[in-house]
Amino acid sequence: MTSRKPLGRYRRIVIKIGSALLVDRKAGLKKAWLDAMCADIAGLKAKGIDVLVVSSGAIALGRSVLDLPSGALKLEESQAAAAVGQIALARAWSESLSRDEIVAGQILLTLGDTEERRRYLNARATINQLLKIGAVPIINENDTVATSEIRYGDNDRLAARVATMTGADLLILLSDIDGLYTAPPHLDPNAAFLETIGEITPEIEAMAGGAASELSRGGMRTKIDAGKIATTSGCAMIIASGKTESPLSAIETGARSSWFAPSGTPVTARKTWIAGQLQPAGELHVDEGAVTALGAGKSLLPAGVRNVTGLFSRGDTVAIVGPEGREIARGLASYDAEDARRIAGRKSAEIEAILGYAGRAAMVHRDDMVMTAQIRQKSERQKKDASYA
Ligand code: GLU
Repeated sequence: MTSRKPLGRYRRIVIKIGSALLVDRKAGLKKAWLDAMCADIAGLKAKGIDVLVVSSGAIALGRSVLDLPSGALKLEESQAAAAVGQIALARAWSESLSRDEIVAGQILLTLGDTEERRRYLNARATINQLLKIGAVPIINENDTVATSEIRYGDNDRLAARVATMTGADLLILLSDIDGLYTAPPHLDPNAAFLETIGEITPEIEAMAGGAASELSRGGMRTKIDAGKIATTSGCAMIIASGKTESPLSAIETGARSSWFAPSGTPVTARKTWIAGQLQPAGELHVDEGAVTALGAGKSLLPAGVRNVTGLFSRGDTVAIVGPEGREIARGLASYDAEDARRIAGRKSAEIEAILGYAGRAAMVHRDDMVMTAQIRQKSERQKKDASYA
């Protein structure tokens, strides 16, 4: 099966850009390359596609600004380089995108921001708001504070997490590698190029060597890891070379690249996670009006909540229980149990006055909710499948 289709047919694209594409060891930032990339991004946005950029290059650019010698840096040196480089990197993106009247917003993430459910929800809400106002989020790891135990360390996997977090349907990894080969091409003259990968099997994983270049941390290994994260959540992935100017246009016109097919769809992936992975930490008892609204695909507003039981934190899974005492849905709470109790039965417009901060309008957003009927259908299907096995 092939997942190749024109970039214009995707809805939300995350583009990961490797350090070596943006930064030259001697000359510093590659401005012409960046301007051409931003023109391509503007083209995608003009078609109504949401674009997110995961840009490496902070450390490389900081190195060049500070004129640090080549070779390995100590942790505090690379963190200082990242601090200097990131400010220059963000400015370069912002200036270059503004040529097409596009606004850039900087997001710096650490591992905890994507792995911890509450921080994950916050980061996702900020990114979604940026997309809503038409901005392009420029994302990088917060290298200035991330130390080895709490870091991604490579932007390939970070970009994949961003893609799944935002429900993107395509992730493009641009680096100096044009795709996946059956063996490292510089070592094996018989290495064959793989244009489409239907599934990341152990054989595919074995093809990924470990090599990374001096400027970037990721090699093929982290790209395949990124592929696993993205494709299992319904996001397609492309590995392509960014060495040419306008690599996105080049992909469109058939430049060599490896395409990884998605499995499932973004919505199913997140909802499957909610339905299958977590035990409800509490219950929201709702009225008949809320049952009808949820049935029509709406979010659960505080106004429809009569009673809150259990101890849960924002981002925990809660069961939504109808007036007859039956679970009708399950979802991620936007509020801690204590705050949920205080705003239950109240209008969303009153939230700020009651809690003292402007929280989310929904108690459980519909994107974070699975109707129990769907959960039931799923387990019945599984039972049926099992009985046929
Ligand atoms: N976050 C690093 C930087 O901006 C790059 C990590 C990577 O190369 O994957 O310098």
